[in-house]
Amino acid sequence: MAVKTTSIDTLVVGAGQAGVAMSEHLSNIGVPHIVLERARIAERWRTGRWDSLVANGPAWHDRFPNLEFAEVDPDGFASKEQVADYFVAYAKKFDAPIRTGVEVKRVVRNAGHQGFIVETSDGTFEANRVVVATGPFQRPLIPAVAPKSDRFTQIHSADYRNPQQLPEGGVLVIGAGSSGVQIADELQRAGKQVYLSVGPHDRPPRGYRGRDFCWWLGVLGEWDAEVMRPGKEHVTIAVSGARGGHTVDFRRLAHQGVTLVGLTKSFDDSVVTFDSDLADNIARGDENYLSLLDAADAYAARNGLDLPEEPEARVIPADPDCVIHPILELDLVKAGVTSIVWATGYAVDFNWLQVDAFDDKGKPKHQRGVSKEPGIYFLGLPWLSRRGSAFIWGVWHDAKHIADHIATQRKYLAYYDAPDSRAKAPNGAATADSRVQKVSELDLS
Ligand SMILES: Cc1cc2nc3c(=O)[nH]c(=O)nc-3n(C[C@H](O)[C@H](O)[C@H](O)COP(=O)(O)OP(=O)(O)OC[C@H]3O[C@@H](n4cnc5c(N)ncnc54)[C@H](O)[C@@H]3O)c2cc1C
Repeated sequence: MAVKTTSIDTLVVGAGQAGVAMSEHLSNIGVPHIVLERARIAERWRTGRWDSLVANGPAWHDRFPNLEFAEVDPDGFASKEQVADYFVAYAKKFDAPIRTGVEVKRVVRNAGHQGFIVETSDGTFEANRVVVATGPFQRPLIPAVAPKSDRFTQIHSADYRNPQQLPEGGVLVIGAGSSGVQIADELQRAGKQVYLSVGPHDRPPRGYRGRDFCWWLGVLGEWDAEVMRPGKEHVTIAVSGARGGHTVDFRRLAHQGVTLVGLTKSFDDSVVTFDSDLADNIARGDENYLSLLDAADAYAARNGLDLPEEPEARVIPADPDCVIHPILELDLVKAGVTSIVWATGYAVDFNWLQVDAFDDKGKPKHQRGVSKEPGIYFLGLPWLSRRGSAFIWGVWHDAKHIADHIATQRKYLAYYDAPDSRAKAPNGAATADSRVQKVSELDLS
């Protein structure tokens, strides 16, 4: 049987928010493209998150500029299904050329001429450009210290769905970023004995002086920060939109019944040891929290904003016993713990992308998503261009930059190919943009 080959100017891999944003910008500038998605649009929002998850930011903020959430209060928090539906509706808005159920298996550079061969579960594509929009969080990471025995049910937060999924007994949740802290809270509220292993974290207030923290980070320029502050590489952010949104406060969680412990160090059979850093981690989290209040107050004063004072936001609850006398060693069996939830983050997986776009540690080498391998683009990665890059409101702007870069490259190629040879250009790469008027066509009268 003949192998089906489809030629296209630009091929986008993945139809999460990044792929949808990319398709919108490419459509706007008339670049022929196809988005290939192995599952469904926004699949990770649909099936890669726990049942009760809502967006971490309010609906007015966690969205693209050109569409509001239809059924969510702007100050409310969209459920994961509503977020997925939003991207489906968004893609429909401009009739995005998305093919679902097609997995990209391999991308290699063409030998001796421009472009790439893309092998998929539905035939082969030839593309001048490939935009990699396969997500910032692809492969769940469980650290090597994880016990090898099957004595405990162990899952990653990517596979956590609800409390009923776990066996009877207590749970150790490892990692206290937004996922770990929300899962621990949910499990404790469902009646489980919960231990939460807390490492270094930032914990901005949910809101302050009548504004959500997303607003504050926006006006303070924090989402636009281009590089991570030194020393923040292993610091997670703990925020929550659950139950209408609230400030993550580890002490309150402890007073509610969750036992906090420090960073998980090692396992020996059923005995787990924790670092003695719990109080320090909590204190640094407080510093981060208070520093945002200070920056917000300074901003409000400097700009003469009439926002209600909120002195009670500076009241920090008393240290719970588990912080004053931290547990450094725990026999999980004796403590009745039967499961472990690893909320320890994700890695990326680019095995299928066999091009010269990576450094010697396997990390994508790029500038604002434009890779060092001409024609390869990355989108949606954490800190791609700034702090907001992996988030809904950030990826749309990065996609626009990449689309602009693609348009510029197409212009160079159109010039190189010269008008009489344009018809021979592969995959429509160098066709002139019919929507661009020539000076002589303009009515200058
Ligand atoms: C628990 C959690 C909560 C989050 N909450 C928020 C939030 O509230 N607000 C916010 O702004 N951000 C949030 N994020 C961060 C971010 O918005 C999401 O991770 C989002 O899913 C990233 O979108 P993406 O399009 O870049 O990647 P993804 O959503 O991961 O989409 C990538 C797509 O590529 C497809 N794909 C992968 N490989 C291939 C292949 N080889 N061939 C074809 N298709 C492929 C996948 O099926 C997937 O659909 C959250 C992240 C997590 C983990």
